[in-house]
Amino acid sequence: MFMKDIKDMKRILLKLSGEALAGDKKTGFDEATCMDVARQVKVLADRGLQISIVIGGGNFWRGRTSENMERTKADQIGMLATVMNCIYVADAFRTAGLETEVFTPFVCGSFTELFSKDKAVKAMEDGKIAFFAGGTGHPYFSTDTATALRAVEIEADAILLAKSIDGVYDSDPAVNPDAKKYDTISLDEVLDQKLAVVDLTATIMCLENKMPLAVFGLNEPDSIADLLKGKFNGTYVTVK
Ligand code: UDP
Repeated sequence: MFMKDIKDMKRILLKLSGEALAGDKKTGFDEATCMDVARQVKVLADRGLQISIVIGGGNFWRGRTSENMERTKADQIGMLATVMNCIYVADAFRTAGLETEVFTPFVCGSFTELFSKDKAVKAMEDGKIAFFAGGTGHPYFSTDTATALRAVEIEADAILLAKSIDGVYDSDPAVNPDAKKYDTISLDEVLDQKLAVVDLTATIMCLENKMPLAVFGLNEPDSIADLLKGKFNGTYVTVK
């Protein structure tokens, strides 16, 4: 099965890299980038597409800062970083005229809603953008894994993976100037060639559950809104 045209999709999960949201600053948020994402997501939402969002945490926190730090504690901080990211970006979305609901897999008082598939689907059916913050709620996982898990759970048609890099390459273009970008690649090939599109756990989850991905650069102008026009400069990661 190849990927459906986005115009024919009902429900998607958009994963935004935390780093890409920080823009040139590399940490925190670049307000202009976040507002631009909100504007573009509104273009998709106005066409009736049901949209959910996962945001990475790399702009605040990435794993352990030292070997002395216990992994589970570092991961808890990472998960909380993704909650802050979702609260910030959801607010930018509201400024852009979108309705939002932020879900977490653990209780955050009145800040967020506890995740359930039913509540998340209802929010999207009501035209709200559903944010899945806090990852899976478990250490030793990542926001990639949370993306794959939630996309499968909510029966998304595809994952849209907006990264700081503009697609899937056969090697790291920052290291190898001759790196080749794929237009299309299958998840089996991604696994065979150990290409880091998403991490290994997430790759296998997508493979087992036939979840295709569209990988593209967040910082390319209109890369999200242009998906509706069939203008795509990234890589389709397909499933059989
Ligand atoms: N994290 C976790 N479990 C999850 C999701 C995230 O422990 O289910 C932690 C993990 O420490 C990770 C951090 O949150 O390093 C930030 O997520 P991620 O690294 O995936 O963000 P990205 O690098 O994509 O910006």
